[in-house]
Amino acid sequence: HLFLLEHPDGSSHGRFSVFREDSIISGYRHPRSSALDCILSSFQMNNETINIWTHFLPTWYFLWRFCVLCSTLNFLTDSYTWPLLVYMMLICVYPFTSSCAHTFSTMSAESRHICYFFDYGALSLYSLGCAISYGYYVMPECWVNSWLHQYFVPIAIGNTVFCTSLSCYSRFLELQFPKRSKALRTIAFVVPFIFDTVPLIYRILLCCGGSCSPTGALSNHCYHLLFAFLTCFLFTAHLPERLAPGCFDYFGHSHQLFHVSAVVGSHFQMEGVIADMTSRRTWLLKHGMMPSFLGTIGALAISLVINLGIIGIFSAPLLWKSCRSPNQPHSSTCGCKEQ
Ligand SMILES: [Zn+2]
Repeated sequence: HLFLLEHPDGSSHGRFSVFREDSIISGYRHPRSSALDCILSSFQMNNETINIWTHFLPTWYFLWRFCVLCSTLNFLTDSYTWPLLVYMMLICVYPFTSSCAHTFSTMSAESRHICYFFDYGALSLYSLGCAISYGYYVMPECWVNSWLHQYFVPIAIGNTVFCTSLSCYSRFLELQFPKRSKALRTIAFVVPFIFDTVPLIYRILLCCGGSCSPTGALSNHCYHLLFAFLTCFLFTAHLPERLAPGCFDYFGHSHQLFHVSAVVGSHFQMEGVIADMTSRRTWLLKHGMMPSFLGTIGALAISLVINLGIIGIFSAPLLWKSCRSPNQPHSSTCGCKEQ
């Protein structure tokens, strides 16, 4: 059953307004659904159904690509492949986390925030995966062994702290200052993206200047950049639903297009990274640094622990509030049921 998040007089219900999306009028699920209702709702048409599937199906596509790579590359003993290993794990994790967040976001106001904390954390870690793979495979030749190259991964770990903290914090401003909240969240994701992409853009500029021969990898990287800009535009512009509120509630609203654009961009990025890894192997191993365990899988493990800690810090007051709230029928969501 779909739930109208407004009072009959048209005013937004204070407690439920956290569930409302800009220019989406209908198709909301019940704001206190059970976990089972949430899973079942992904098979019924509501305003989250396409959001769920546009990231659930790509998860399987990226997993399939990962399995094929596992059968052709030696991830266990060939440390040159470790940056790709980290990247492939995270390209599978971020759409899966996002589809789970969209599935379980209507269990309670608190669970909605926590779901999206994990969504932001997974995206933030994905930006680290991009930095690790770019640092080892995509870096322009003239920057290999430079200061930036050596500190690329440690700075990217710092970026995940910045990105996860700021994006989680932005949710607390959503009701009072929606514009500021959106701006902070956009900044949180754009800063790591710009940092990760600087070496790639420099390499493309060098190529445009004629000091390299364009390769298949570079055309994939260019398509990725095009889709990255489109993704950012869709995230901030809320088009097309802003032009006709209520007309795109189920099909075609900006968040669905944002999901599709992000996944298509990730696909081109993955192809570019794999092509660079294969074609530049001999040159990079001769001139560059051999990827270390600490610089790849270790960096992911460190960042994962820090980011889970940040999500824990932001979730704790919400869980506390949800446990103490006497009017919460779904107190089991806070893990303190019958204790
Ligand atoms: Zn989403």
